[in-house]
Amino acid sequence: MNIGKNGLVVVAFGGNAFQTKGDKGTVEDYWRNAYTAAETVIRLVEEGYRVVVTHGNGPQAGILAELMMLGLKYKNIPPMSLDIAGAMTQGWLGYILQQALYNKLLEKGLLGSKVKGVVTVVTQTLVRKDDPDFKDPSKYVGPWYEKEEAEKLAREFGWIFKPDPRGGYRRVVPSPDPIIQVEIEAIKTLAENGFIVIADGGGGVPVINEDSRLKGVEAVIDKDLGAERMASALRADVLLILTDVDYAYINYGSPNAKPIREITVSEALKLYKEGHFKPGSMGPKILAGIRFIQNGGKLAIIAHLKNAAEAVRGESGTRIIPG
Ligand code: ADP
Ligand code: MG
Repeated sequence: MNIGKNGLVVVAFGGNAFQTKGDKGTVEDYWRNAYTAAETVIRLVEEGYRVVVTHGNGPQAGILAELMMLGLKYKNIPPMSLDIAGAMTQGWLGYILQQALYNKLLEKGLLGSKVKGVVTVVTQTLVRKDDPDFKDPSKYVGPWYEKEEAEKLAREFGWIFKPDPRGGYRRVVPSPDPIIQVEIEAIKTLAENGFIVIADGGGGVPVINEDSRLKGVEAVIDKDLGAERMASALRADVLLILTDVDYAYINYGSPNAKPIREITVSEALKLYKEGHFKPGSMGPKILAGIRFIQNGGKLAIIAHLKNAAEAVRGESGTRIIPG
């Protein structure tokens, strides 16, 4: 498929855009990885695309959760709510990527000519107040606790804890399905007017509509599903999900694993239902791709971060297409 000049690509970066395997997560690691991610975006810009960027925030939200619990334990500093923590990670990672992109554009002489600027939008993402996940939260967040301490925190803050398959107890929160980014018109206007936009980080800060007002909720949104909502609303040409594997595989992890190069939505749905894609990792990426095409998109790609430009040219990655 030819995407055409000035086409819009929504790029979703995974955890490896900020922290790769073996990294400790030092400030230097963050900057080094962000520059690699920025180079990926710049290559797309050089090929003529407009780009809206989004990213995950799992490790960073985890760090904030850990810090909050330490603050509570040692200084009795009240914990932050999850929506505020989510917004903090958007600013944190947005800033790093924004500066890396700015410097790279400047270095290449692209700032002002091809791109007017780079901007991060703190994004609120609407979810349904009655989303079924609110009844049975299943997403683990924050540190591990012994049973006794978990029970104490549950009493004090009204949190829900569940035993973690890896041992100990962890807080669980809902992961509701995203509906739409509240700031979508701003994101669109910026993207149409020459800005590289970083938005919906971490899937967006989850908000509900209560008595015609927005209200942040103690939940997290899957970033791949959030990226789909944004890409569909922007009528993007491509939803490009970048991660740490080169393809989505059939029979992943077994000796007869096979990379998927191109599949139609109906084939993707069949494989999804057969359980080829793990929930919480590849599952939401495939589901995001399926939804993007069902909502009128032409091409969704899941590829390795280092293969982004090749993936857009059709030389790498798993392509989900209509049919
Ligand atoms: P990201 O931070 O990019 O969202 P995830 O860890 O959530 O990364 O998802 C990518 C991971 O999905 C891969 O590292 C791989 O271990 C896992 N995965 C699960 N099922 C599959 C599959 N069928 N094909 C490829 N990778 C898969
Ligand atoms: Mg993920």
